[in-house]
This record gives sequence, C-alpha cells and structure tokens, in this order.
Amino acid sequence: MAIESDILRSKLKHFFGFDSFKGDQEQVITHLIEGGDAFVLMPTGGGKSLCYQLPALVMEGTAIVISPLIALMKNQVDAIRGFVSAGDGCIAHFLNSSLSKAQIQEVREDLLSGRTKLLYVAPESLTKEDNISLLRELKISFYAIDEAHCISDWGHDFRPEYRRIRDMVEQLGRAPIIALTATATPKVQSDILKNLNIPGAKIFKSSFNRPNLYYEVRDKVDAEKNIIKFIKQNAGKSGIIYCLSRKKVEELANLLNMNGIAARPYHAGLDAKTRMDNQDAFLMEQVNVIVATIAFGMGIDKPDVRFVIHYDIPKSIESYYQETGRAGRDGQEGRCITYYSYKDIQKLEKFMQSKMISEQEIGKQLLAEVVAYAESSQCRRKLLLNYFGEEYSEENCGCCDNCVNPRPVFDGRKEMCMVIELIKSLPEKFKIEHLANILAGVTNSTINTYHHDKLAAFGSGNNHSVKFWCTVIHQGLLLHLLDKEIETYGLISVTAKGMIFASNPYELKLVEDREFSMGTDEEEDEEAAAATAAMRSGGGGGDPVLLSILKDLRRDMAKRLKLQPWIIFTDPSLVDMSIQFPVSMEDLKNCQGVGDGKAKKFGQEFLTVIKNYVEENDIIRPDDFVVKTAPNKSANKVFIIQSIDRQIALEDIADMKGLDMDKLMSEIEIIVSSGTKLNLNYYIQQNVDDDVVDEIYSYFRDEAESDSLADALKDLEDEYDEMEIRLVRIKFLCEIAS
Ligand code: ADP
Ligand code: ZN
Repeated sequence: MAIESDILRSKLKHFFGFDSFKGDQEQVITHLIEGGDAFVLMPTGGGKSLCYQLPALVMEGTAIVISPLIALMKNQVDAIRGFVSAGDGCIAHFLNSSLSKAQIQEVREDLLSGRTKLLYVAPESLTKEDNISLLRELKISFYAIDEAHCISDWGHDFRPEYRRIRDMVEQLGRAPIIALTATATPKVQSDILKNLNIPGAKIFKSSFNRPNLYYEVRDKVDAEKNIIKFIKQNAGKSGIIYCLSRKKVEELANLLNMNGIAARPYHAGLDAKTRMDNQDAFLMEQVNVIVATIAFGMGIDKPDVRFVIHYDIPKSIESYYQETGRAGRDGQEGRCITYYSYKDIQKLEKFMQSKMISEQEIGKQLLAEVVAYAESSQCRRKLLLNYFGEEYSEENCGCCDNCVNPRPVFDGRKEMCMVIELIKSLPEKFKIEHLANILAGVTNSTINTYHHDKLAAFGSGNNHSVKFWCTVIHQGLLLHLLDKEIETYGLISVTAKGMIFASNPYELKLVEDREFSMGTDEEEDEEAAAATAAMRSGGGGGDPVLLSILKDLRRDMAKRLKLQPWIIFTDPSLVDMSIQFPVSMEDLKNCQGVGDGKAKKFGQEFLTVIKNYVEENDIIRPDDFVVKTAPNKSANKVFIIQSIDRQIALEDIADMKGLDMDKLMSEIEIIVSSGTKLNLNYYIQQNVDDDVVDEIYSYFRDEAESDSLADALKDLEDEYDEMEIRLVRIKFLCEIAS
C-alpha cells in the first residue's frame, strides 16, 4: 500500500494536531506502510512514538506494540486515546499482568470487533497461551518493538524475554516489524537486527548530538558542597540529581533541604504515594530539585530541566547518555555534571561480583568505557557520539569541559605506531588493557599465560604508564586508526586507515588523560566530617577579640530581653561566628547551632557588629560557605526525623529501629542539638500533663544556666520523671532556643 505525502500530513494534523513531521518520521512511516521492516534510532525526545502510532491509525488491522515498561503502558495508552478522539477508548489498549479478568474480556471484545488499532503488550504476555490464541484471530498491521535495545545483553537494560519476540512473531503471523530505540551502540544495533531476524530492515538513524547540552566531569572531592554551591548559583532552575543508592538519595535530599534548597527524594523504596507526590511536586515546580535513583525519569517529559547531576557515575555510557538526555529537552540550556572518582568504579565492580561470569564480563567492559570517558581530555561530545557509532568532526564543540578548557597536545605519532606494530605482530586480538600492559611492561596472569613478557615489545614503552598507553589506544579508536570489533566486543584491531598511517606516519595531536583523585569511602567521609566538626566545636582557631565582643553583645542583649544568654546563642555558635565571620543572614544560618528562627530573632545585631569588625580590621572572610550537615548522616537519624514528622509515637519508632527509649531520646537530643527542629508536641500532649510541661519549660527559660541535660536532671529529678524533663527540654530547645 502506498500513501501520498499530503494525505499522510493531513492525517498527522487530524490525529495529532501537528503541522509537520519531525526528523525522519515521514520516511519511516511511509516505509512501514509500504510493508518494509524498519529500524529507528532516535535520541530521547526525537518523536519515536509517532513513527508507529500514526501508521497504526491509518493501516488496516491492529498494530502490536511491544514495550518493556508495564508501568508506562497505561500512560502511553491514555496519551494516544487523548490525542485521537475523546471518549473513544477502544482505539488503544494494553495487555499485561496488571489487568483483571473483566478488563481482559473488554480488551478482547474491542480487539475482535476490529476497533482497536494499537495493542500494547509486555513481551511476557506474548508467551501466554490465551493471548496467543486471541492474537492469532486478529489481522496484525505490524509489530513495533519499543526500547529494542532490551534485546541485547550489551544494552543497559537487557530483558531476556525480548529474545523470544521473533518466535512469537512467527507464531502470530509475519507482518512488518519496526524496532525503535534511543540508545544503541554498533554492537547493540547488530544484536537487534540479528535477533529480530530482519537483516533487510531499513535503518533510520538520527543524529544523537544534543548541541545544547553541556557535558562536564568533576573530580569527586567535596561533591556535596560543590552541588549545593552549584544549585545556589542556579537558583530557580529545575534539576535532577542521580545517586546509585537509596540511602544516598535520602541523605543528599536531606542535606539540600538543610541548606535551604527544596528537594525531594525519589527511589523504589518509597511507597507509591510518596513517590508519586514527589514526582508531581517536581513536575508542578513546587520543588526545583529531585534527588533520585535511576528509577526516576522514565517516561517523564519535563522540557525545562536545566541540569542533571550525577553524584555517582553511571554504570554504562548508555545510562549516562539517557539520563543526561533529560536535560534541556526544549533545546535551551542543559548542564550535565558528573562527579567521578575511581573508588566509585571499584564499588560498582564489587556489586557485579554476585552476577554470573558472562554478565560480569559485559558489565566490566561497559564500565571500562565509562572510565575512559570520564578520564579523557577529548571532546565529550565527540566521545559520546563516537560511542554510538556516529562521526563528529568539529575540532572544538565549545560546549563541554574539555573543549572549554583544552589540555596541551603532543605529537603522538611514534606512540601510535608502537601500538599498531604491536597489534599487527600478535596472532590473536586483545583488549586495550592487555596491549597497554605489554607496552608499559607490566605483568599479570594474562600476560604470563600468553608469555607476552617474552615479546620484544614488552616494556618497550615503559617510560609511560599503563594508563598513558590506554589513552593512546582510545584515541586511536576515535581517529579510526584502530577498531573495536562488534562481534568479539572489546578486542582491538588495526583498520585500513591505521595500516596506511603506520607505513607513512603523520602528525597526531594526542592529549593525556586528566588526573582524578582516588575518592574517599563513605565511612572515611563521615570520619573526616566528624573530625572537622570536633575541630570547629573545640573552639580553636577563632578570632579571640571578636569572640569577646560577641560575648559582650550577648550579655547585653540577654539583659534587655530578659533571657538567659545561652538561649540567644550558645558558646559553640559564637565561636563558630568568630571563625566564619558571617555578614549576611544566609552566612549566619550556616554557623553551628544557628537555625532559621534564631538567626531572624537575634541575628541582626550580631551581623552588624561582625560586619564592622571585618571592615575595621580588613579581615578577609573565608569566601566559601559552610555546608550544614546532619550530626551524623546515619540512616537511623533520617528515619527518626521522618517518623516524627509523621507523628509516629516514640515507642513505635524505637520498636521499628530496635532501640530502647533511652537510646532513642539520645538520638533525638543529638539531632536537636545540631540545629534540626523537631516538633514533639503530638507526643508530649498525650504523655505529659500540661502543668508539668509548663513548670519544666519555665525552669529552662528562667533558671537554667545552660541547656545542659545533666544539670536539669540534677535540679529537677526529685519532682519529675527523667523522660518528662528530657521531652520538655527538647520542646524548649526547638521552640525558644533555636
Ligand atoms: P521519544 O519516544 O522519541 O522520546 P516522543 O515520541 O515521546 O519521543 O516524542 C517527544 C515529543 O515530541 C512529544 O512531546 C511529542 O508529542 C512531540 N512530537 C512528536 N512528533 C512531533 C511532530 N511531528 N511535531 C511536533 N511535535 C512532535
Ligand atoms: Zn567538546
């Protein structure tokens, strides 16, 4: 069946309201309608869905759309129903394990009546007898295989059920096949064509270049502080921060909020309602920042995400490309910043150890690509596009860290020749690392197995490191002097161009990789943070003159306000002020033990005094701000804070965490002493008499000489329960003294 271009265009307008096709859409659609198989590679946002939706609507029969994302099927079906015509629900259906018997019956009737033009199915539904016999009765217009990279175990999202699609097509009856994906390396492309057995499919490949995205990789040192600074400099802009673990998501979201940035967490461990609420808050712009595991983002189409930050490096370039791709979908600014340290790579490798060997091999290879990308000094855009089999010929893209800050180049012709000669001399092909080991003269078990330490080339380049030689080989790949084979992924061979180069070498501008720090362990991080906190509260290092001025001011104010001095600011707070020299409310709130409330209530006079002092004495303030941290970022504390927010009884919280009440109260006291306010009124009202609350409260306001719990217990323990004293003290600290 052939179709005229203007008819197609009028259908596009009629069904979808668009005036013209985007990219390759028209060619793809025409090809499909004419009965050809098609393979569509388009970056996210390119308009893939329309490539099968429109033909499904105009062709005779029902199109079978195979998609791995059961959770998104309903959205997709709703979307197409919304486009096509109000109320005509039977035009599209989905079939998956979430449907009830009655719903399946309805789908069946609509299908058999011929009204349904699109049927979305999960691949596992295609293996069920009932479904097969139903589908066999239909006239199938074509098969669309969405997220086709799921076929390949070299994709980042391998689904074994996808391997059986071709068998299913045979059982149901052959019709044209269209496979679509937003990420596919040459290896994955070849797997898809082979597995679907559509060698003659016409390939429609759009450029994967996203010119408006800025790519940057930063050393993972002080990443949290760096992120807070970045977000503050980009106030009001929407952004996504990806972390690998749920724990980190919670911690980071918490930390951002503590530092005045409204952020919500999103991960699979949250209940469905919270997850939905947080996602909506982000989409509706109640919060600018979402901190998420990769569970977030699929099927989300927020056009104005201005930054995507990877707190942890992703485990493949595909994931990286897909996640960064969520920035700047409207073609405007989109900054993609990744924090990298080699420790994180080792962590990812450790996670893989539980997997099967074959999977581990693939995982390691994908990770090696990530390392090469992160450490490279080459244009990031060029590296990414090259990874997806696309040529990028600009010298300088002007929109990545390496192009903005280029590193010095050296003439690498001699080194490249050494690499090429080595590869040519070996009877078998090897991976990058192995070749680099030979040249650098580093032995390991593989080198020994092959007796490669006996080669003349062994150690011939030992004036350079293994890493240096890896860089040379990577750049040889980029320059197409070397090639990585598709079938035996990762093995390096010399191309025809490389042979020509070797026989007549010319100048090659190579750059050395960047150096990154090793990174620290979480635990070490925490220890370091604790150490700095201890240093800070130890009182050392402050300006003694300023400190005494601040103490005078406090005494003076205390008299005027008829408050105890420590209620205004505690000693550690004053010490911190004498170190940080805060001159704005924002600065002040970053001082130890100074919350929002206290800063506003008592801060102004202190700021004026400090400002004068700074000016009179020409003091250079630390221009870096201080990140407020939780006393200890342990999951327990986060859990306690959240539970109290939800007004859960303290006994239940203690139970859930396996703590006794004493331990729980201590945790709460630590949380409060670090400046986090907790509202325990719901619990106090039920457990302590009102007059007792009043009496203990006035003790702290009028009599106590500090906020010391030990003193309070000594003074009050004859009259009141320890628990009562502790609870009211916390109430007091949160309401008055913070
Ligand atoms: P992909 O699946 O490739 O990520 P989608 O199919 O979700 O992309 O399309 C991305 C966006 O582009 C959607 O908002 C869609 O409505 C829009 N779109 C698709 N085709 C066209 C077109 N021809 N004209 C205008 N907008 C289009
Ligand atoms: Zn660049």
